[in-house]
Amino acid sequence: MRRAVIENEEARLNALRDLHLLDTPPSESFDRITRLASRLFNSTVSAVSLTDSDRQWFKSRVGVELAEIPRSEAPCAYALTSDEVFVVSDMREDPRFKDGILAQAGIRFYAGAPLITREGYGLGTLCVIDDKPRDFTREDREALADLAAMVMSQVELQNALGCIDSTSGQANENQLFQDLEDLAKRAPGETRTALLVEFASLSQVNHGQRVLGATYTAFIRQGTERIRCLLGDLRVYHVGPARCVVVLGEVGPEEWRKIVDDLVKGLRITITCAAIPLTPQPVFGVYAFQVDAVAPRDVLRRLFNAADDARGSGEQAATYNVGQDLAHQRRFQLLNEIGPALEHPDELRLVYQPRVELRQGRCVGAEALLRWRHPTLGDVPPAEFIPLVDDTAFTGPVTDWVLDNAIRQRALWSKAANLRRVSINVSARNLEDAHFTERLAAVLERHGVTPGAIELEFTESVMLTRSTRILNEVAALRELGVVMSIDDFGTGYSCLSYLQRLPIDLIKIDRSFVSQLVTNTYDQKLVRALITMAHDLGYDVVAEGVETRETYDILVYWGCDEAQGYFISHPLPPGEMQPWVYPQKVAPSQAS
Ligand code: C2E
Ligand code: MG
Ligand code: MG
Repeated sequence: MRRAVIENEEARLNALRDLHLLDTPPSESFDRITRLASRLFNSTVSAVSLTDSDRQWFKSRVGVELAEIPRSEAPCAYALTSDEVFVVSDMREDPRFKDGILAQAGIRFYAGAPLITREGYGLGTLCVIDDKPRDFTREDREALADLAAMVMSQVELQNALGCIDSTSGQANENQLFQDLEDLAKRAPGETRTALLVEFASLSQVNHGQRVLGATYTAFIRQGTERIRCLLGDLRVYHVGPARCVVVLGEVGPEEWRKIVDDLVKGLRITITCAAIPLTPQPVFGVYAFQVDAVAPRDVLRRLFNAADDARGSGEQAATYNVGQDLAHQRRFQLLNEIGPALEHPDELRLVYQPRVELRQGRCVGAEALLRWRHPTLGDVPPAEFIPLVDDTAFTGPVTDWVLDNAIRQRALWSKAANLRRVSINVSARNLEDAHFTERLAAVLERHGVTPGAIELEFTESVMLTRSTRILNEVAALRELGVVMSIDDFGTGYSCLSYLQRLPIDLIKIDRSFVSQLVTNTYDQKLVRALITMAHDLGYDVVAEGVETRETYDILVYWGCDEAQGYFISHPLPPGEMQPWVYPQKVAPSQAS
């Protein structure tokens, strides 16, 4: 069936340009079809030839070195205006072509099937060319037309896949992935350097979008456009709100630094968006890779990593760093897997570290400390995973797990007359949860434990937030009867007058001040002053990290109330706590 071909040249050119095919790298999906055409017709040359305003540009070609020829010389232009295969059996015999450069170069035969969009725009041809005159049968014409239809399916597929970013009109990450795959096939073993330009940080983008709404896209569009202009012929991929990637050749540090410097200079000019002047603040991620050795998605991920490192370190540009990447991946894995670990009975457990009252050396408490044995990573220390968890919504479920298990254990120790409390660590985020006190009260009730048998430790960071919600929660917990303490005291920057207003019962001096106490005179003055001050304010004092008999004795001498540390005991599984919880005799120096 014949189709109407639209002859409006301007509209045709717009349609062609909107497809973003001109001047793009070769692509296996098109090359496959041209190779097939060459084999099928046994032709010297076959090509997917796109008709630009003044040239035929070859998206894919077999048997010819030239990337383009002048439009006026090419028979392709004739094929454009009809939907039929256009054939010149012998150029030397055809007055339209016999004096043209193709005939002069020895070309005799041409057959071109037009590439026509659904809307009816002719983009160019799939053509086969030979250096001898030929006949082209009806079957040949049909076969060439079928192959041209395959080329058009490919064009449509690429468009349907969404290879263009709708904000900037630039190629997007899908296109980057396709081009990297093509590059891997075309140039195996070769190295390329990819550059990611981030011209505004994610928080700047969020802020901009919040203030300017949809108008902010003008900043994104102009930013990417400026990068495209500054990079000349190189294809720019728009891969994130304010992130563009460009794949350079095999360049060394000097060359990419020069490109970075030029981009920095070019991007520094203010962009006005809704009358608000915005200046791009670019950072760069750089990654050199062997094209067939790294998956395209990893190339992009590594560029993101490098750019994040640059932003995080305050550098203009950072190269991809395997160590940092592995650390990121480990953090990501831990965060992903802490949720399932809560359901897995073998992975998480609590150990308890005895706390002794210093005057008589009796064990009066135990601190519950979380342990995670990851199935593949082994033991992961809480100092590594707790700070990660604290930044996320997992902090609630993790603390709930600890509360439930520690309070259950406290109930099992209900006959231990000396054991006043089991202490449990909670984070600031837990205290921001308006239902925390309610939930704790429910757990206590479920296990039949009185609130006074539990102590909650939180760090000074809680006080630094000065959030009234947190302070109300601390007050509510204390009202419930739970003992409240400040952990790692001395490591934050809390103000003493503020401390006085906090509804707490005791402070735990951080182990960094205690571990060198015997030799460090500065620590001695500080710890002594802290003990006096805390007592004056009406708080009990616990020293953490007591590792030697000498430290223990000094603390007794200075009137510190309680202590915890390896000298007394390492943290123990509940089964090994028996001698501490039900002591035959008091022996704080057992571990020495
Ligand atoms: P923390 O609450 O200050 O706990 C004391 C840490 O010091 C524990 O480390 C303990 O094993 C260690 N320690 C005890 N005595 C000594 C000593 O004499 N010398 C030295 N060098 N260290 C000693 P751990 O168990 O690795 O816990 C580290 C931190 O992780 C804890 O510090 C706490 O902030 C956090 N954490 C542990 N379990 C939990 C939990 O269940 N929830 C929350 N939110 N945080 C927890
Ligand atoms: Mg603690
Ligand atoms: Mg501590």
